[in-house]
Amino acid sequence: MEKIAFIGLGNMGGPMAANLVRKGFDVTVYDLSASAMDTLATLGAKVATSAEDAAAGAGIVLSMLPAARHVESLYRDILPRMKAGTLAIDCSTIDAATTCRLAQDLSQHGIALLDAPVSGGTAGAAAGTLTFMVGGAAHDLERAQPLLQAMGQAVFHAGENGAGQSAKICNNMLLGILMAGTAEALALGVKNGLDPAVLSHIMSKSSGRNWALEVYNPWPGVMANSPASRGYSGGFMTSLMLKDLGLARDSAHASHADTPLGALAYTLFEKHVAAGHGAEDFSSIQQRYC
Ligand code: NAD
Repeated sequence: MEKIAFIGLGNMGGPMAANLVRKGFDVTVYDLSASAMDTLATLGAKVATSAEDAAAGAGIVLSMLPAARHVESLYRDILPRMKAGTLAIDCSTIDAATTCRLAQDLSQHGIALLDAPVSGGTAGAAAGTLTFMVGGAAHDLERAQPLLQAMGQAVFHAGENGAGQSAKICNNMLLGILMAGTAEALALGVKNGLDPAVLSHIMSKSSGRNWALEVYNPWPGVMANSPASRGYSGGFMTSLMLKDLGLARDSAHASHADTPLGALAYTLFEKHVAAGHGAEDFSSIQQRYC
């Protein structure tokens, strides 16, 4: 069986790697956090002492890291230990230009890269129901399919390297707008005497329905398993949403696209991070309205 290295076991990477282990893949994990590795070890994953050790001899390397600088630095470190013919699958959300540059660098060593950012949140990562947006060659995606299918339920080939990241950035710009809009509408309703659970139910059966409202409700107590109902812990950090809105802003600038709502969402989340909420789940934007 092909050896898999999985690097980055945070809110998303941890449950994604766990699904691969449970489904019988030969997985070696590495994270800067020892406790994240311990969790995977108890499930049966092999634990490496460094990213380089994890990548040595692996047929497929998966990475799930916060931002572009972590991804670039990881591949710079592990490249000398990767063999030609290895497939790298980067599931982190980063800018398309960095992905394309990385793909070019790796290809000079006979290593193919797929950008495969995901949607579905931590619940989707745990349930194995993520959506993958993939950029890269079709034959490399073919090779990655068994792994992606073990972690997700929808795999889309968006185009060449960078296309997966471009799709993800469009999605997350929309998500940031929808979360802020949902929080705004809920706060307006509560200030007018409505119960947030009743209002959520009404809007979920009306034309304002959306994922932030129905699956990831930002008002505490409305949805038992949402980050809002556990003090906005876990989930998708506000600082990471701000990173994605920044990627959307940069992409809009470079392509001369007009994204006024994306720009407004960026400003709202930027202020929220500046107020000390960067490590909380992004649905904590609700607190700005209360
Ligand atoms: P996270 O901060 O929870 O996890 C990142 C992990 O990477 C941490 O465990 C950290 O220790 C590890 N790490 C950092 N540098 C490392 C290195 N050099 N070597 C090994 N490990 C290293 O972040 P997350 O929420 O899991 O998000 C990861 C990526 O997925 C981000 O790009 C994010 O934008 C994207 N994403 C997140 C969600 C979500 O709901 N959380 C959803 C979709 C996409």
